[in-house]
Amino acid sequence: MSDKPICKSRRDAVKVMLGTAAAIPMINLVGVGTARAQAPANAVTPDDPTAAALKYHENAAESDRLAAARPGLPPAEQHCGNCQFMLPDAEGATDEWKGCQLFPGKLINLNGWCASWTLRAG
Ligand code: SF4
Repeated sequence: MSDKPICKSRRDAVKVMLGTAAAIPMINLVGVGTARAQAPANAVTPDDPTAAALKYHENAAESDRLAAARPGLPPAEQHCGNCQFMLPDAEGATDEWKGCQLFPGKLINLNGWCASWTLRAG
């Protein structure tokens, strides 16, 4: 084994690269796994025809709400949690997942948004 500084430096660089390369997929797996584990089986998915037509996204921050915002609140404040159509006591509802009158039998994310958003009265 060589003790030359340049070899030690190269060895350290390789270790850092391998460690980084190994860590990136693990970070992604943890993130994706967490999100999917929290989504109920009957959560509205992007391939749902109604969801596509209404531009529903389970994360309002990543939705089209800035471009297609509805009247009632500033776009950044519009989300399923303050929408007239959200059903808080739908079957299977949790703290994060609720029902919606536009998606019978399915659950939407409280932090989602769609183009039918309407400010909840009261
Ligand atoms: S209608 Fe309202 S509660 Fe239902 S998905 Fe659209 S924004 Fe969310």
